[in-house]
Amino acid sequence: MRTNIVAGNWKMNCDLPMTQDLIAKIKKELSGELKCELMIAPSHPFLYAAFNASLDTPIEVVAQNASAHHSGAYTGEVSIDMLQSVGVQTVILGHSERRDIFKETDQELADKTKTAVDKGMKVIFCCGEHLEERKAGNHFVTVTQQIEEGLFQLDDKEWKQIILAYEPVWAIGTGETASPEQAQEMHAHIRKFVADKYGDKTADKVSILYGGSVKPENAAEIFAKPDVDGGLVGGASLDASSFIAIAKSF
Ligand code: PEP
Repeated sequence: MRTNIVAGNWKMNCDLPMTQDLIAKIKKELSGELKCELMIAPSHPFLYAAFNASLDTPIEVVAQNASAHHSGAYTGEVSIDMLQSVGVQTVILGHSERRDIFKETDQELADKTKTAVDKGMKVIFCCGEHLEERKAGNHFVTVTQQIEEGLFQLDDKEWKQIILAYEPVWAIGTGETASPEQAQEMHAHIRKFVADKYGDKTADKVSILYGGSVKPENAAEIFAKPDVDGGLVGGASLDASSFIAIAKSF
């Protein structure tokens, strides 16, 4: 069986008091058993506070980004070792905002992923097409290319540390969601692509999250699709009751 995951990407929102407040609110909303793992990704400066505030809860604190380098003259960067030293065991890599705004390339993402995996981290690896690519019918090619170039240097065993997040760029922060059928179609395509390279055993085990305007109103229908194993949630993760309502949509 695959692990279901709901992960909140807080992006560049929330200072320290807001981070603490949001975690306190999420904790209050947590009652009953969750049928998924729950992750939150606050900004780097607040990871340690978030980690401490989340001890003895089901909340895993994850990072939004990390360097491919281990240490040294890389001003402004944060290494995997640093993240691990504050309790972080999972990092989001390849978010479309990193790719588009910060021009992170497939090669850089492959390097970051390798560094993280070598250090024993789990990676939520994001992929997704722009609207023009979907309109031109190139969405499958775009997404499989991102996966191939970012992840196919890993061996079979290393794939145990990979979580995929399919996030069509046209659905991120726009209020526009891929239909459950569109999400399922792409997730099945991704799983087959992984199976063709690594075999069914690996492909069947990898969790593939959907991201793009997931809300309490649409989460259940999307998560019900057989190849959708949860969500990477932006905007709605900043509201504790919405976030937990999404997590309870399984
Ligand atoms: C995201 O940033 O990963 C995301 C999916 O954002 P939103 O849920 O706001 O579309």
